[in-house]
Amino acid sequence: MTQREEEPVPESDVADVVAVLSAHAADVDARGRFPAEGFAELRRRGYLGLLVPAEYGGMGAGLAELTSLAQRFAGGCLSTAMNWAMHCQQTDLVVRHATPELRASLLPRIADGEVYLASVTTEAGKGGHLLTARDALRTGDGLAVEREAPVVTGGLHADGFLITLRDGPDAAAHEVTLLYAGREDLKVEQTGAWRTMGMRGTDSVGLRLTGRVAPECVIGERGRFREAAADSMVPVGHLAWSACWLGAARAALAGLVRWITARGRRPGGPDAASPLVQERIARIRLDLELVSAYLGKVTEEVSRIRARGGRLDVPSVQIHLNTLKLAASELTFRAADRMVQLAGLATGYGAESPLPLERTFRDLRSAALNYSNDRLWTANGTLSWADRAVTLL
Ligand SMILES: Cc1cc2nc3c(=O)[nH]c(=O)nc-3n(C[C@H](O)[C@H](O)[C@H](O)COP(=O)(O)OP(=O)(O)OC[C@H]3O[C@@H](n4cnc5c(N)ncnc54)[C@H](O)[C@@H]3O)c2cc1C
Repeated sequence: MTQREEEPVPESDVADVVAVLSAHAADVDARGRFPAEGFAELRRRGYLGLLVPAEYGGMGAGLAELTSLAQRFAGGCLSTAMNWAMHCQQTDLVVRHATPELRASLLPRIADGEVYLASVTTEAGKGGHLLTARDALRTGDGLAVEREAPVVTGGLHADGFLITLRDGPDAAAHEVTLLYAGREDLKVEQTGAWRTMGMRGTDSVGLRLTGRVAPECVIGERGRFREAAADSMVPVGHLAWSACWLGAARAALAGLVRWITARGRRPGGPDAASPLVQERIARIRLDLELVSAYLGKVTEEVSRIRARGGRLDVPSVQIHLNTLKLAASELTFRAADRMVQLAGLATGYGAESPLPLERTFRDLRSAALNYSNDRLWTANGTLSWADRAVTLL
């Protein structure tokens, strides 16, 4: 029995966190600032250690708990939930692929809420392409890092970074090494601001990272980041991000349904008895039902394969993971768009609305860009040639 089964996350605890996230969501968005209050609450209550095994002092939770909590937190503030979800994604890489020395020194600090991990994969020139890198690792006295990082979620607040680099000056672009660097090992200079339509609270600034780390900070095999990416970074990312987007859209729909059905107590607006309104709500619901069901099935599939020590880098499983990201990003955004239309100008489109539909719409517009869907559509097309049996989920 895992620690999670013995001590499930108390509902009151989750509700308290969601309340803090909700209370600051509008200000975080309006000021485009890091959600310091919500993140402090997540640190204080041990949620940075959600995926850290109990033997290292963490909550020892699995992917089902991750996707369930990500939905709940995103219902309070999508930016805060994404910052946390990305941290969990990085934590999973440390749990599954770090050296024993790094696991022993880092995981207890993550579990204590001391270390928030940020992710550095995007690079100027190569853009989002996950499995290549330009800036090269240099060896000598330890491993020297010199990395331009144009988009680092929570980068100014992170206590450590997982960074992809080309394995050396002579290595090919696809020979990528992932390593951990603590903030204390690096000079961190801000090179870009984060001024975007939505997800403004992720504070995903540009950074230049310079420093030196010990050889045990390499995560996975040198030059073979592809393996850790397929086993951990991509699956956990797609699951957790999709859960966040779904949670935000679901909370928006819950608010919209409450608002429509309270018509007797407010002037004007959509009428719950109108067949047109009913049909529109049903279409929104359909999109969220489909994403929820597919998220649940992919979570089960990945958890099952992990439990038996299997590999995730088979074409059908990769197609399922990519499909989840594609479907969740497109359908939750479509749902938000339809909610704006249904709620109308003041309540749907207005920033002063009692429902945060305008913010949710802007935030969810990022979903297709947060690792470009264009890359995943073409990847799934290519993978489809390899899965000739058409192994549907
Ligand atoms: C909220 C948010 C948080 C993020 N946080 C981080 C972070 O913490 N760390 C990090 O490293 N990165 C982060 N990113 C960056 C992200 O992971 C992507 O790398 C980035 O958004 C992709 O940029 P791009 O749209 O220019 O696409 P790229 O993937 O760089 O592609 C460039 C262009 O090529 C097009 N294109 C791509 N593939 C194809 C194709 N097969 N056919 C035709 N056209 C194609 C794309 O549409 C795009 O216009 C974040 C992004 C967002 C939105």
